[in-house]
Amino acid sequence: MIRKSDPQTIAPYLKDASNYAEGSAEEVIIPESIDELIIFLGGNNRPITVAGAGTGVTASRIPQSGVIVSLERIDSIDEIEGGTIDVGPAVTLAQLNKCLESSPYFYPPNPTETLASFGGMLATNASGPRSYKYGVTRDFVLEADVVLADGRATVLRRGIPAEKPLRLSDGSEISLPEVSYTSPAYKNAAGYYVRPGMDWLDLFIGSEGTLGILTRIRLKLLPRPAGFISGILFFDTEDSCWSLVEMVRRVPREQIDPCSLEYFDRRSLNRLRKKFNNIPERANAALFFENDVGRMEDYDSGLEAWFEFLSREGVLFDDSWFAQSASDLNRFYEFRHEIPAMLNEENSRFGRVKMGTDMAVPEEQFIAMMKLYRAELEAGDLDYVVFGHLGDNHLHVNLLPDSNQIQQAEVVCKRLVGKILEWQGTVSAEHGVGKLKKKIFAEMVGDTALSELKAIKMALDPRMILGRGNIF
Ligand SMILES: Cc1cc2nc3c(=O)[nH]c(=O)nc-3n(C[C@H](O)[C@H](O)[C@H](O)COP(=O)(O)OP(=O)(O)OC[C@H]3O[C@@H](n4cnc5c(N)ncnc54)[C@H](O)[C@@H]3O)c2cc1C
Repeated sequence: MIRKSDPQTIAPYLKDASNYAEGSAEEVIIPESIDELIIFLGGNNRPITVAGAGTGVTASRIPQSGVIVSLERIDSIDEIEGGTIDVGPAVTLAQLNKCLESSPYFYPPNPTETLASFGGMLATNASGPRSYKYGVTRDFVLEADVVLADGRATVLRRGIPAEKPLRLSDGSEISLPEVSYTSPAYKNAAGYYVRPGMDWLDLFIGSEGTLGILTRIRLKLLPRPAGFISGILFFDTEDSCWSLVEMVRRVPREQIDPCSLEYFDRRSLNRLRKKFNNIPERANAALFFENDVGRMEDYDSGLEAWFEFLSREGVLFDDSWFAQSASDLNRFYEFRHEIPAMLNEENSRFGRVKMGTDMAVPEEQFIAMMKLYRAELEAGDLDYVVFGHLGDNHLHVNLLPDSNQIQQAEVVCKRLVGKILEWQGTVSAEHGVGKLKKKIFAEMVGDTALSELKAIKMALDPRMILGRGNIF
């Protein structure tokens, strides 16, 4: 096992993409096997924070004290077997995608940041553009090995229900405390997943490194689509883009069946113009769409159906871009990835902690949410950018205040959160709570639910040493 305690070596582990600067740790522990990890945990009393790849945006991998456990050496990828694959927690999405390239399979959830590790993606239940059709990380995890903070281990499998005690490697058992709280049924990444009929595996997915350390993960793969019909549609008004998405939802899936519907507001486009100088001048909003095609012989009819649908709607049709090759498609992915990457870079440059929302609402509130964002954001002089998963009623509002506007930005955030919660929305549909959204998460669930969720934490980690400072 590698142990490092000099500040210079620890420093990179005190960062993620949130720009949170209050991390501190005594040591980084890098086990070279799971046995080493288990032995270490058996004799440990210090707080532990698990490090993934550090692409998270809520500071959840940034420790406040104690030790960092990095599983960076546990990075094997096994052979595909019957449409499943086992990966180590350090394997990144980019590595898995590369490995699947020569196979007939693909892994649908595609959180935009391909450098994210599977440990991190499971811990945050990451999702991405294709979650609109395919669902989130949780939907593609069949099994995971987990080690609790005290070194006891178990295999979490689909079909091991949380209502029955969880059996651990030393023969002991843990029961899930009584919980009356239920997680929202729509896209949600805030707090533990608690729903009727869930498995223990469901609970650990999305637990933000607070319940156990994931050491092996079995993923479900799907047959690779023959191709993707894809485009970036431009609109002269933001409203016409929103109505198009409403229309898409009403069209029968036999006609058009998108897996991604991703939004860029006027200010996103203004930033993206620095890199993509062919964005039409009169465009004030854009939508990236993808429609997977099972068989190549259905590609042309699928494309025609999209053209016919779009010609009826308010799209700047002649100015929009449609992928004609795999390299066009990759360029569109780059377009989608560029906006959060640009904002993260900008925040780092200005030494600004990420201030943004990751909220989603039930579908009935979609247009109301969009109007709320516009009214509240346009009312002040703060710089901001809105982009994200329009199909899932889930947008990222990024506030970009000057140093003298921080309070003003906090007030705007508070107002947005207040309204979204009135609409029974979630404070995080994708990134999790981490250390940055604890206050609004507590507001979302209320005191009783918060105590129930803490009781779950206490059942699995009574010393409260794992992922300290996250969620609660
Ligand atoms: C440009 C950009 C775009 C992004 N786009 C998306 C997006 O579209 N969708 C999305 O969901 N997210 C997105 N993110 C956020 C980020 O990529 C995800 O949250 C990702 O899942 C984090 O993975 P990581 O390996 O970097 O984890 P880290 O940031 O290192 O850690 C995240 C959490 O996982 C825990 N953890 C890590 N490994 C383990 C393990 N083995 N066992 C238990 N806990 C563990 C950590 O303790 C921490 O709580 C984006 C980030 C960036 C920078």
